[in-house]
Amino acid sequence: MLRDLSISLLLAAGLLTGCSWDEAGTEASATSAMSGTVPTIDQVVTAMGLDGVDSAMLTGTAWRIRNSFRQTLTASPPWPERDRISNWTQAVDLQVPAMFGSGDTFASNLFLEPPVAGTHTLNVPADSSRWSQQMEIWLTPWGFVKGALSSGAQGSRVEMDGVAYTKFSFQSPESITSPSGMRYTVNGYVNADNLVVRTETWVDDAFMGDLHVVGLFDEYMSYNGLMVPLVIEQQRAGGGVFGISISSAAANPTNLDELLPAPAVSGEDSGSPAAASTPTADLTQQIGEGAWLVTGGYVALVVEYADHLVVFESGQSEARGEQIIQQIREHISAKEIRFIVNSHPHSDHTAGLVPFMREGATLVTHANNVDFLDMALNTPRTLLGEEPLNAEVMGVAGVGVFEDASNRLELHSVPNLHTDGMLVAVLPVQGVMFEADFTLPQPGAEANPFVKTLARYVVENDVQFERYLAVHAANVPQTRADLVATITGE
Ligand SMILES: [Zn+2]
Repeated sequence: MLRDLSISLLLAAGLLTGCSWDEAGTEASATSAMSGTVPTIDQVVTAMGLDGVDSAMLTGTAWRIRNSFRQTLTASPPWPERDRISNWTQAVDLQVPAMFGSGDTFASNLFLEPPVAGTHTLNVPADSSRWSQQMEIWLTPWGFVKGALSSGAQGSRVEMDGVAYTKFSFQSPESITSPSGMRYTVNGYVNADNLVVRTETWVDDAFMGDLHVVGLFDEYMSYNGLMVPLVIEQQRAGGGVFGISISSAAANPTNLDELLPAPAVSGEDSGSPAAASTPTADLTQQIGEGAWLVTGGYVALVVEYADHLVVFESGQSEARGEQIIQQIREHISAKEIRFIVNSHPHSDHTAGLVPFMREGATLVTHANNVDFLDMALNTPRTLLGEEPLNAEVMGVAGVGVFEDASNRLELHSVPNLHTDGMLVAVLPVQGVMFEADFTLPQPGAEANPFVKTLARYVVENDVQFERYLAVHAANVPQTRADLVATITGE
């Protein structure tokens, strides 16, 4: 039932077409079947069993998206690959507020190395003023109701897929605002039983803009009066990223202090990897006629044409993207950067795209990534206080070529187990392959499966080059022969 509901909600929200939620349209179209009584938030408090409840704890099993949001096999949702989290325990203090959850994982990584035991935590420290953390509390059904109650929210009728709901909205506390100075909005949707079935907010994200985060709740059950959805799912940008199957729950646990350990860390990010401390140092390295690398972080490849440049790979952060552009301007060329090519859609290989979009470059990516990157880069950036990027995105399937009389850059599609949206660069004139994440193994070690995929591709398609250069630079020179050696004897 929840699955059907969530799909219809997504359709109503226009997310499947990449549009933002057209709230006025949704409500305007819901003029019929609105005759039911609109409950007050107090009635919702009672229906949810939240009278006198200041905290709650729950246990069960959980799951998370494999490798984390934007590190998935496919760029666009759904992302079916998940890691199981056992022994999930979560406590929420609705008064402070604060929340802490943790459970055990046994998971592989992006490079398909053998799984290892680990811990997944969800920590909202008591002193956190960051919405990316705080929202985790307000998106729970109990946090949502408490937030709506304390702000005196009034319900309004909305209809989605022929079903009427009551919608309540409130704003983040005055002390918690976005970089543009806006308070964040939280919406919740209550069903005919006055139970919260869906919550949502938007959080500023340097890459995704106003990132839409949704909580979905199904199969409510009473635990001594506290109404608890046995199935919880959180979605980001339209795809499930985390979920819980609850097996027990309790209101006002007596051991709340033990369940909410004082956070040892400040909870503040260390921030993006900084640009080089000496911005005028020359980080460029010519690798042939009309071709350069920009080193000093994730390495970028710059290819020069008669009246423009093409850059392959944008860096691991916005600051690094800006640094690459600055390096190009100071040490390579003043020509227009007409195209920025993305090796693959993982977060650490796309974070630097934003400065290139501001520069007016067209993004070129594997065809499988076009929908997601177009949606992400053209999402409004109001919470960040930034102008829209108006990103242009082009897809490459098979082999794409940028060529004029002076230079030739080939983009080869090499889908693999790391990502189904991978492009690899080849410069036939300079004799170079430039790749991301196909890191060759240490001498004597076995290559991972996607390195072998690239080696087979090179052999089967007779792709010729001498030097094997990487976004993640190797500390020894590597060659085509080193790549092909990973599959010799097969
Ligand atoms: Zn990757």
